Amino acid sequence: MAESGESKENQGGRHQEVGHKSLLQSDALYQYILETSVYPREPEAMKELRELTANHPWNIMTTSADEGQFLNMLLKLINAKNTMEIGVYTGYSLLATALALPEDGKILAMDINRENYELGLPVIQKAGVAYKIDFREGPALPVLDQMIEDGKLHGTFDFIFVDADKDNYINYHKRLIELVKVGGVIGYDNTLWNGSVVAPPDAPLRKYVRYYRDFVLELNKALAADPRIEICMLPVGDGVTLCRRIS
Ligand code: SAM
Ligand code: CA
Repeated sequence: MAESGESKENQGGRHQEVGHKSLLQSDALYQYILETSVYPREPEAMKELRELTANHPWNIMTTSADEGQFLNMLLKLINAKNTMEIGVYTGYSLLATALALPEDGKILAMDINRENYELGLPVIQKAGVAYKIDFREGPALPVLDQMIEDGKLHGTFDFIFVDADKDNYINYHKRLIELVKVGGVIGYDNTLWNGSVVAPPDAPLRKYVRYYRDFVLELNKALAADPRIEICMLPVGDGVTLCRRIS
């Protein structure tokens, strides 16, 4: 089918809706990825956590299974050991990370909400990887400021995953660029923001999508212009931009 015909046909499709976990051209293609490559290889604990999270009222926030698989692979490829996550929710990306790290790997995990983290925690414990996690309840920015002030952790993180308040991503970046090591990677999640980054100004967007869109657009511009990093924006999940620190 011609490209233009296909995209028109899909415009009202499910994958265009807010919160749907793919930006691919068709639901069938996304389903194919999940059923062929992701679900058959998904560790039992991640499946359990995904199913537990599906019953939670805020399940729209969880990382998708294909993105979880991607993160797990990426962490292994870069031999990550010392990591950070901002925005944990019930811990799906956290578990994907914890399972990928070596035995002496570490994750500094931050979220303002401990309750949701504790929902997933028993599954993470059962998987035997909870000991790698140092969870801090509260806003991430003051913790980062403290680390910057201390100076001890400058240039020490192999990987940092940012999946929290989009209006703070630029503020996080200012600090994280000091904390990640040269050659290390920061992953900013949701950088395609439900596809709204290309929505016309009068598009009917949900309130929170509209509100955060400008912050995401600003971030994307700032990352593209930052000479301290190399970047790669991937259409995985809701868009994830990988930034490799080069100086
Ligand atoms: N990575 C998670 C996963 O795989 O399920 C999803 C994270 S969810 C999209 C965003 C999280 O960011 C929420 O759990 C929210 O409580 C947290 N959050 C919001 N503002 C925050 C802040 N200022 N500091 C730390 N966490 C924050
Ligand atoms: Ca996300």
